Amino acid sequence: PAGLYIVATPIGNLGDLSPRAAEVLARADLIAVEDSRVTAKLLQRIGTKRPMLPYHDHNADRVRPGLIERMARESVALVSDAGTPLISDPGYKLVRDARAAGVTVTTIPGPCAAVAALTLAGLPTDRFLFMGFLPSRQKARADIVAEVAGVRATLIFYESGPRLGATLAALAEGLGDREAAVAREISKTFEECVTERLSALAARYAEAPPKGEIVIVVAPPGEEASVAIDADAALAEALTRLSP
Ligand code: SAM
Repeated sequence: PAGLYIVATPIGNLGDLSPRAAEVLARADLIAVEDSRVTAKLLQRIGTKRPMLPYHDHNADRVRPGLIERMARESVALVSDAGTPLISDPGYKLVRDARAAGVTVTTIPGPCAAVAALTLAGLPTDRFLFMGFLPSRQKARADIVAEVAGVRATLIFYESGPRLGATLAALAEGLGDREAAVAREISKTFEECVTERLSALAARYAEAPPKGEIVIVVAPPGEEASVAIDADAALAEALTRLSP
C-alpha cells in the first residue's frame, strides 16, 4: 500500500535484515537511499532490484516535495547505508512533512548501532542520552561535552577510528575519568567491546587508532577521578608558591 516505510538495515551482518524489511524493500515502488551503490548491494543480496532515488543532506530539500507527492500513490521506502534511518542519518524532515501531508508512515524497526553498543557495554541502561557525532573542532567539542557533564545518564557517542583517541581524551577531561566502553565493528567478524576508564581508553587508542566503526558509551557521573585541569585552581596554587 501507498505510504512511507522507514526500513532499518543491517549494521554489518546481513543476517540482521528482518524478513519484513526484505519484503517491504522488494515491494517498494521507490527506495529513497543515501548511497545507491550501498543499497544496490543489499537488494542484490535479497534477489531484487528496485528503483532508487538518492536522498541525502545535499539534495534533501530539493527532492523532498516530489517524494511526498509520490507517497500518496506509491509505496516509498527510506533506508540509510546502515542501521536505522534518521539516527545520525537523514530522514526526520521527510517523516515530518509526510505526516503533515497525511501520508501513512510505517516503521520497520531493526539494527541501530547506538542501542546495540548499549547492550554490549555493561553500563546502566535505565537512562541514556544519544549524542551522535561530536564536532571535530576542539572548542565546539569541549562546549558540548561540558553541556552534558551533569546529566545523570549513560552517554552514547558515534565516532570514527582516526578521531577516537582525541575524542576519548576530550571526554575524560570534560566528564572526569568515568568508566566507558568502546564498541567496535558490532555484528561483524571482528566485533569487540573494551571497557575501561576514559583516560586508559584514550591512551590505548591514541597509540593505535583502531579500524572500523565505533560507538563510545560513557557511564553516568559517579565517583570518577577528575582529570580535568582546573586552570584557575592551578594558577592560584602557583601564585601561593611564588609569594614570600
Ligand atoms: N543510522 C545508523 C544507526 O542506526 O546506527 C548510524 C549511522 S552513522 C552515519 C554511522 C556511525 O554509526 C558510525 O560512524 C559508527 O559510529 C556507528 N556504527 C555503524 N555501524 C556500526 C557497527 N557495526 N559497529 C559500531 N559502530 C557502528
